[in-house]
Amino acid sequence: MKINNHLDITKIRNDFPALNQKIYGKHLVYFDNAATTQKPKIVIDTINKLQSEHNSNVHRGVHYLSDQMTQMYESARKKVQDFLNAQYVHEIIFTKGTTDSINAVAFSFGEAYIKEGDEIIVSEMEHHSNIVPWQIMTKRKDAKLRVIPFDDNGELLLEEYKKLINSKTKLVAIVHVSNSLGTINPVKEIIDIAHKNNIPVLIDGTQAVQHEKIDVQDIDCDFYCFSGHKIYGPTGIGILYGKERWLKEMPPYQSGGDMIDRVTFEKTTFAELPAKFEAGTPNYIGAVGLGIALDYLTNIGLNNIQNYEKELLEYGANKLKEIDGLKIYGMAKNKTCLFSFLLNNIPPYDTGIILDKMSIAVRTGHHCTQPLWDHYKVEGSVRASLAFYNTFEEIDYFCEALKKVQKMFS
Ligand code: PMP
Repeated sequence: MKINNHLDITKIRNDFPALNQKIYGKHLVYFDNAATTQKPKIVIDTINKLQSEHNSNVHRGVHYLSDQMTQMYESARKKVQDFLNAQYVHEIIFTKGTTDSINAVAFSFGEAYIKEGDEIIVSEMEHHSNIVPWQIMTKRKDAKLRVIPFDDNGELLLEEYKKLINSKTKLVAIVHVSNSLGTINPVKEIIDIAHKNNIPVLIDGTQAVQHEKIDVQDIDCDFYCFSGHKIYGPTGIGILYGKERWLKEMPPYQSGGDMIDRVTFEKTTFAELPAKFEAGTPNYIGAVGLGIALDYLTNIGLNNIQNYEKELLEYGANKLKEIDGLKIYGMAKNKTCLFSFLLNNIPPYDTGIILDKMSIAVRTGHHCTQPLWDHYKVEGSVRASLAFYNTFEEIDYFCEALKKVQKMFS
């Protein structure tokens, strides 16, 4: 058995109740972490405690519970600021998740800065949530979407990217880590190229934040988005980081309570950041839960997590290479521990269903990246996405299971 020197995986696994269950009488092998991660007990317990003992709406309340919850909510914001190393705490906006964050920027940035003939650059490997909001906005504004292609290894063609940039380019929106291929894009370089042309950049960090330390000031992105549920936190909570200068200038995305300064029937003035972008009762319990998840990861150490996941990646890639007829999609030099593949001519769905019966959870299909699969001229893949609580033994079991699937179809 391979032992990791820095992480006590057995102890870590005990922190996650969902991992210690049997499905169809066998231990669950959870390889669907790119879809959502399991939650540590401390997050689950905190949410339970908040719901049962501390529930009260934030802001404006004069009573004890409301004041307490407001402090917890705002201290969760500070935790996210520290986690991303944002310059100001008001640059952190709580949203419902990445989809909500990108929609907010697409609408609001679009309203403020996009006019007829302007161009937005995305890439061929984007999740639908970093395509469709831009498509809708560019259609509304009579603007255009331009697309950076990638090569068959799943690496963006930066020379093509440079060619797409011109005086009409108003924003670049790029995924940090591809949810279908695992490619880690060179975002710092991509941002640098855009900034040399005075173009702001939004990074979809949904699949990056749980695998490596992100420093938004170092990469110098203008916007960074992620979802709580993919970083061991609750569902229904997410983050939009935006540089102060943009958030101050951009109009609100949604309106109603909490985001106002003064309302009359003639006119409304808006609240300062971050409230301007947080209309209505926020998911304050989700926000505090997310803060606890970030504390948990910080205690373990993202460097330790990254190193261990690299070992899992190398081990898994070598094991999968031994399986004849297995074709991996996404062979970028720099990638996360994610294996997207097809097994012979077996439809991904069939592979997934049989793996499920062997208590292995993987995802099958297009993974919300249909244009990416158009590149490879296939419908989708089987995707095994690992987290730091997964083990070398699970990879062994998984590879044996894949060989069984092959036998059943041969
Ligand atoms: N971007 C990427 C890269 C993703 O993997 C996902 C979720 N699969 C999203 C955006 C959307 O995240 P959510 O559904 O949590 O809003």
